[in-house]
Amino acid sequence: MSEAFQLRRHRRARRVTLRVKADASLVVTAPPRVPERVIRDFLAERADWIERARGRLQAVRDQRPEHLNDTHPNTIELPAIGRVLDIRYAEGDRPRWRARGVDCIELQAAEASDDARALLIDLLKAMARGSLEPRVLEFAERHGLKPGRITWRNQVSRWGSCAASGNLSLNVRLLLLDRDVCDYVLLHELAHLEHPNHSRAFWAKVEAMCPDYKLRERALKAASRAMPVWVTG
Ligand SMILES: [Zn+2]
Repeated sequence: MSEAFQLRRHRRARRVTLRVKADASLVVTAPPRVPERVIRDFLAERADWIERARGRLQAVRDQRPEHLNDTHPNTIELPAIGRVLDIRYAEGDRPRWRARGVDCIELQAAEASDDARALLIDLLKAMARGSLEPRVLEFAERHGLKPGRITWRNQVSRWGSCAASGNLSLNVRLLLLDRDVCDYVLLHELAHLEHPNHSRAFWAKVEAMCPDYKLRERALKAASRAMPVWVTG
């Protein structure tokens, strides 16, 4: 049996590696000169592993509400900023997104789930810069804190971080949280400007800005497990 796979040649790759993507397809990364025959042998040897990985993915998908498994959503909800966007799909010569009205976004040439995801992440970054960043600055001013530059990323394992320089890195996935939970993360990162640790003094600062932070922290953990596949991949 020979499996279809996507081959990525990387100059700096030392060996052949394999990944099963969320849509169950295979991505092989290989050094430039490894022959395709060697790659096919590699895949054949790992047929069991691939099957197990797909089984695990399927199990995860089966447990999730169906709408979280959609790689090409028709609407995306951004509770943190109280917006719901209609997403339309159109043909195009290259992947890109454009606004088609106040709450309507068109994705062009986004048939591949990776392309759709990259465009939606890019859209989230634009939304975060426009709608969440002003809130970060407003909170900062209200609590007498002075953040540096703000960068928006789509991170797997952190909602935000605060560098020693005062620059903040925030996760675009915050847009998908309930507003009070999102605000807690913003306040948490801002509190790090005063306390670059999780000391007692830090939590006291958080509590002063956000008295029910423990509830929100719990909601945050639950929300991390309910991110849609169009953002997590
Ligand atoms: Zn922290």
